[in-house]
Amino acid sequence: MNCLYILISLYPYYLNNEIPRLPRVLGVARDKLKNMNTYDTIILGGGPAGVAAGIYAARKKVKTLLISEHLGGQSTVSAVIENWIGDIKLSGFDLLKKLENHLRAQEGIEIITAEKIMAVKKEGKNFSVATDKNNYQTKTVIVATGAKHRQLGVPGEDQFAGKGVAYCSTCDAPMFKNKDVVVVGTGNSGLEAVIDLLPYANKIYLMDVLEKIFGEETLAEKIKSEKVEMLLGTKIKSIEGSQFVEKIIYENIKSGEVKEIPAQGIFVEIGMTPNSDCVKDLVKLNKAKEIEIDHKNMATSVPGIFAAGDVTDVLFKQSSVASGEGVKAALAACGYLGNK
Ligand SMILES: Cc1cc2nc3c(=O)[nH]c(=O)nc-3n(C[C@H](O)[C@H](O)[C@H](O)COP(=O)(O)OP(=O)(O)OC[C@H]3O[C@@H](n4cnc5c(N)ncnc54)[C@H](O)[C@@H]3O)c2cc1C
Repeated sequence: MNCLYILISLYPYYLNNEIPRLPRVLGVARDKLKNMNTYDTIILGGGPAGVAAGIYAARKKVKTLLISEHLGGQSTVSAVIENWIGDIKLSGFDLLKKLENHLRAQEGIEIITAEKIMAVKKEGKNFSVATDKNNYQTKTVIVATGAKHRQLGVPGEDQFAGKGVAYCSTCDAPMFKNKDVVVVGTGNSGLEAVIDLLPYANKIYLMDVLEKIFGEETLAEKIKSEKVEMLLGTKIKSIEGSQFVEKIIYENIKSGEVKEIPAQGIFVEIGMTPNSDCVKDLVKLNKAKEIEIDHKNMATSVPGIFAAGDVTDVLFKQSSVASGEGVKAALAACGYLGNK
């Protein structure tokens, strides 16, 4: 039936001797259709940077799509945030709700959650964004995919994630009441993890490959307790157990001696790693895999791709900073669209 319909549709072209021109006609139609589905800008990430970019782009009336696995960003898990400008104190969840409400109040912006961004590619003057479910076309891209906790990369880490291996002390410290716990990393986040654990844990081993504490003096003062034992100049070799973490195997870097600590938990606090994989083959990254940007206009090394927030080489990784950077990126992308 369908074939008959196609043949009848083609008949007038046949009569006019236009059959050889059909492929070109179809090609033009396909390109027109593609253009109709091309966004002016696609924002990757729905943390403070992405949401701020989304609000500004939508208000500039550019055809905008925001894609993020989740909305709210990293600090959604925080119990208390005290430096989000305009709020003396709020929880990470409240910040997520505020950001989401403001974003969804914008007319014309499309928001897609629960899709994982896989890769951005250049296609002629435009770009394609591939997720695990779809493919989208756009004239500009704003990368605001933020960062995630760096992993140790040792045997047992993935196996026991959520079963004793933890990355957020604010969220998980109460689960280690009367337990023996290892904290890896003596930077500020490691020291803060120890402070979070002090009211709960039975014993806290603080470990680092460095031989002295890396974080701020004021925080180091706060972890002075008989519950805390320093094991500096050490390296984790593996995390072992049956169903949950039972022991941590580590090596003394100087002597090479390998020992084990019976422990039911381990907090990995060794910094963050930027979520820049989706553009790693396209834009210039620094050694830390952060996207290098021109901080005046948030431009990356590829014209048409902008970036903002913790995924970039911005010095200060903070929510209020990220949102300001997102605003700058959206305005720069709109300027680029106008000038294109
Ligand atoms: C526990 C914790 C507490 C913090 N507390 C504070 C604080 O009190 N004050 C403060 O100013 N800052 C705080 N920070 C830092 C702050 O959260 C970050 O600086 C800020 O969230 C960065 O915003 P962003 O939009 O750049 O990235 P993110 O917040 O990381 O958001 C990135 C978004 O992109 C999405 N995403 C990433 N990759 C993909 C992908 N491949 N596909 C689809 N979606 C993707 C994620 O789902 C996420 O929503 C805290 C951070 C943590 C971890």
